[in-house]
Amino acid sequence: MPGSDARPLLHSQIAIVTGGSSGIGAGVARALGAAGAKVVVNYHSEAGPANEVVADIEKAGSEAIAVQADVSKAADVQRLFAATIEKFGTVHILVSNSGIQKDAAFLDMTLEDWQRVIDVNLTGQFLCVQAAAREFVKRGVQPEISKAAGKIICMSSVHEIIPWAGHVNYAASKGGVMLLMKSVAQELAPKKIRINSIGPGAIATPINLEARDTPAEEKDLLKLIPYGRIGEAADIGKVAVWLASDESDYVTGTTLFADGGMLLYPGFVGNG
Ligand code: NAD
Repeated sequence: MPGSDARPLLHSQIAIVTGGSSGIGAGVARALGAAGAKVVVNYHSEAGPANEVVADIEKAGSEAIAVQADVSKAADVQRLFAATIEKFGTVHILVSNSGIQKDAAFLDMTLEDWQRVIDVNLTGQFLCVQAAAREFVKRGVQPEISKAAGKIICMSSVHEIIPWAGHVNYAASKGGVMLLMKSVAQELAPKKIRINSIGPGAIATPINLEARDTPAEEKDLLKLIPYGRIGEAADIGKVAVWLASDESDYVTGTTLFADGGMLLYPGFVGNG
């Protein structure tokens, strides 16, 4: 039974959440903290919002620190993991969540906008996933903590599957994340490392503020969501806790979509 031994699901586990100071990352960091994990809240530029997430986690009874790092830079990622290990001793859970959009019509997209999105959304995943996996292999399984040596959750998107005109860089990065995740899963399962992705649909966060700015835009967005509501960061936090816990011990190499049915082709309703 989940939690029947009365210990929180992620008791004694150390988690890093990249981009943990806003949106989905903040929701995930709070949820992991509430489930008993000690959380490293990575942020890119502003310490203030990261410190607020840290304070919330502490208020809920766990421990947390904020660490600045740009996930697209190898030296920063090394520093993020070194700071985590220095403070908490090791890391058991990585939620590789940082991501950006730089949207443009394909014919107008600059190489710079292509490259930055790939650097953060795909190379950032490579660097963080590799750093986590190296630490998991070095430490090995601690049976009193978890059945796996470590758990990795990549924040992908429904756009690892759904093509997205005007967002070619973003969709290509998320398609890349899918096969990065699956290939790493195949390679590292024998070392007791589980890696999965979460594929959110439309979640109300700063990244998509413009797409739901007016009631008309929000109505258009809702046409894509059979379940009839835009998601909250907390919806994704709950999925992350499950994927990070031994409750999902037999799950690796898959994307769990949390999208209110966006992937069900709602445009076909009444059209065929
Ligand atoms: P957000 O803008 O609030 O979060 C993105 C986070 O990434 C921010 O905290 C930002 O500071 C951080 N970040 C950006 N560049 C970084 C860098 N170089 N190094 C470290 N951190 C960096 O938006 P969000 O919606 O919470 O996005 C989080 C993740 O969820 C992204 O990977 C995004 O692609 C994915 N996602 C979001 C939605 C949605 O509807 N909101 C849907 C599908 C997928």
